[in-house]
Amino acid sequence: MNDPKVPIGPVDGSKVPRYAGFATFARLPRRDEVASADIAVLGVPFDTGVSYRPGARFGPAAIREGSRLLRPYHPGLDVSPFAVQQVADYGDVAVNPFDIGEALATVESAADAVLAEGARLMTIGGDHTLALPLLRSVVKAHGPVALLHFDAHLDTWDTYFGAPHTHGTPFRRAAEEGLLDRSRLTHVGIRGPLYAKRDLQDDAAFGFGIVSSTDVAEYGVAAVIEGIRERVGDAPLYVSIDIDVLDPAHAPGTGTPEAGGLTSRELLMILRGLAGAKIVSADLVEVAPAYDHAELTTVAASHVAYELISLMALSKP
Ligand code: MN
Ligand code: MN
Repeated sequence: MNDPKVPIGPVDGSKVPRYAGFATFARLPRRDEVASADIAVLGVPFDTGVSYRPGARFGPAAIREGSRLLRPYHPGLDVSPFAVQQVADYGDVAVNPFDIGEALATVESAADAVLAEGARLMTIGGDHTLALPLLRSVVKAHGPVALLHFDAHLDTWDTYFGAPHTHGTPFRRAAEEGLLDRSRLTHVGIRGPLYAKRDLQDDAAFGFGIVSSTDVAEYGVAAVIEGIRERVGDAPLYVSIDIDVLDPAHAPGTGTPEAGGLTSRELLMILRGLAGAKIVSADLVEVAPAYDHAELTTVAASHVAYELISLMALSKP
């Protein structure tokens, strides 16, 4: 095993072609190949909570394939995220596809185990139902967190077909359970038709502020970043990214696409503007590769995860 002070980085792309070998995230070592880890890339192949197109269970494997071209230095943030901290691929959590309650419990205990090691989570899903058990786990370690939620959808609905745990409901449940710092909640990228105006009233009652997709276009990335930073402050921050925040032109491989979304450049710029924020963990969900073309979605997803891992490198505890 390696000296934990000297992280093992990705397989060297100048010695082994990027398309060769096993597809761990960014060709990083597996958990069993390192002495300890600071960041755990954890796959959760689960999509039993979806309401429309299924297929996000294949997200983790596809994101890993789409991440083969990531390189070790991030010039925008001037950081080598795999050199200043040990990032390792923890593989996939084996979740029950037939029992949502059991799946949520399995994800929560897997997350608990990672956090107990002192590592932070970069979870790759999987559908958005997963955000609830991940928040439950993070809050045990940090108390109620600020939430920055990138999504076309609010995900604060109550139930579907009477079911409380779906990919459209995790943040209502999280608010009800007291997992969120209600003065520091922001959705970014919201757009598209709702069921009723009441959806927005309920959402606001939980404390969420909304930066809509058209707000990003109208006011610009810099103003959006300023607003988000002010709202988050120096609170412990959880970042949850539904890939459908991107326009279907940038991320067609997802389950509930909505026209008029962010470009991948806008999303990456907004994330980059969070440099210094105290990110305690993050997830990236709703990649459904069966609807993808030419790896558009998985390449975008892998860059988003890289951005988050780079931000965590800058806010290393
Ligand atoms: Mn969504
Ligand atoms: Mn979502």
